[in-house]
Amino acid sequence: MATITLRPGRERPVIQRHPWVFSGAIAAVCGDPVGGEAVDVLAPTGDWLARGLWSGASQIRVRLCAWDPSQLLDEAWLRARVARAVSGRVGMADGEGGACRLVFSEADGLPGLIVDRYGVYLVIQILTQGMEARRAEVLRALVDLLAPRGIFERSDNDMREKESLPPGDGLLWGAEPPDQIALLPATAVGTAVAPPRLLADLRAGQKTGFYLDQSVNRARVAAYCQGKHVLDCFAYSGGFSAYAARAGAASLTLIDTSPAALDLARQNLALNQIATPADYVEGNVFKVLRAFRAEGRRFDVIILDPPKFANSQGQVDHAARGYKDINWVAMQLLNPGGILATFSCSGLISPDLFQKIVFGASVDAGRDVQIIERLAQSPDHPVLLTFPESEYLKGFVCRVW
Ligand code: SAH
Repeated sequence: MATITLRPGRERPVIQRHPWVFSGAIAAVCGDPVGGEAVDVLAPTGDWLARGLWSGASQIRVRLCAWDPSQLLDEAWLRARVARAVSGRVGMADGEGGACRLVFSEADGLPGLIVDRYGVYLVIQILTQGMEARRAEVLRALVDLLAPRGIFERSDNDMREKESLPPGDGLLWGAEPPDQIALLPATAVGTAVAPPRLLADLRAGQKTGFYLDQSVNRARVAAYCQGKHVLDCFAYSGGFSAYAARAGAASLTLIDTSPAALDLARQNLALNQIATPADYVEGNVFKVLRAFRAEGRRFDVIILDPPKFANSQGQVDHAARGYKDINWVAMQLLNPGGILATFSCSGLISPDLFQKIVFGASVDAGRDVQIIERLAQSPDHPVLLTFPESEYLKGFVCRVW
């Protein structure tokens, strides 16, 4: 096995089980590892520290998977890791059409592998050379452990490009999923709220077809919606709106730039026999909120669930200005005592920074704003303590006076 020797002073994160070894931390490579091969990582003294998977083309050269020298990164290891991840989701989405993330990459000890369950279908992402080299093993493990009807790949092709991997999309095993599948989102174990059925397009929808990471938060936010006029910004397929309607919202206004998304949202409300008056606005939230303000429109509950604004450290300032802007205008559109459910899915914006941004918006809006709940990604997207990067989605439910 090839060995990687670290530069002096770069051992600490490895000893503390952070799974990434960057190219700049490496002093020497002994051997000629090919992409995806298992390599040993040594301290500058030569002591064995960890074992991981090599990615020669990526800035993240090694993704660590084992800290016990007797642990081989073989098929039995991979299968055991998948089985462990699946066992952690028992009870979250077991019913017919149940949908949840079964494997969340580094956070489940399988860097570069995402597996989402949508009823009898699995949608997977293979994002690193280590997982690419184990593609056949991954499929065998999933087929044996989960017996799905079909496995479809929806890899994030930007991430594959960083690993010098060709785009990866298409049917990998079994039957092709239908154009639309009715799914039942995961709930927190023991939650009483019954989720609506929601349609997802596994082959062409956003992400792997649905934003599973907001599953629990949609039910939390719905708890504030009975009899309320609700504005769902960045609505996509209307997940927040469908829950709000089931909780008895008086009206729904959904904004998204994508007509296909709004069309799916319309179908989702119909599928759940929702008769709540709903207005679908195709447009840019930044502009539509200002237009509503100019018209003097007011709402009781506003949901802000924007896409990731910061993809790199260099974009954090610009992203922060964007978050502040939409929060500032949204606060101005709320009736006194109204609810703002505001989210950020940019991992580079910490919960602290996000709180500062929302604080800034409140000062500029001249409103008293109280945080009444702090929300995070749903429990099928665990945060591994040794890998803080796995925490990315944060949200506040605020009361705006
Ligand atoms: N709230 C959704 C997920 C939102 S994902 C849910 O619960 O499933 C972000 C959505 O924002 C996408 O549907 C995208 O089409 C839309 N979007 C991105 N930028 C936008 C903008 N400036 N104005 C309106 N919609 C936007």
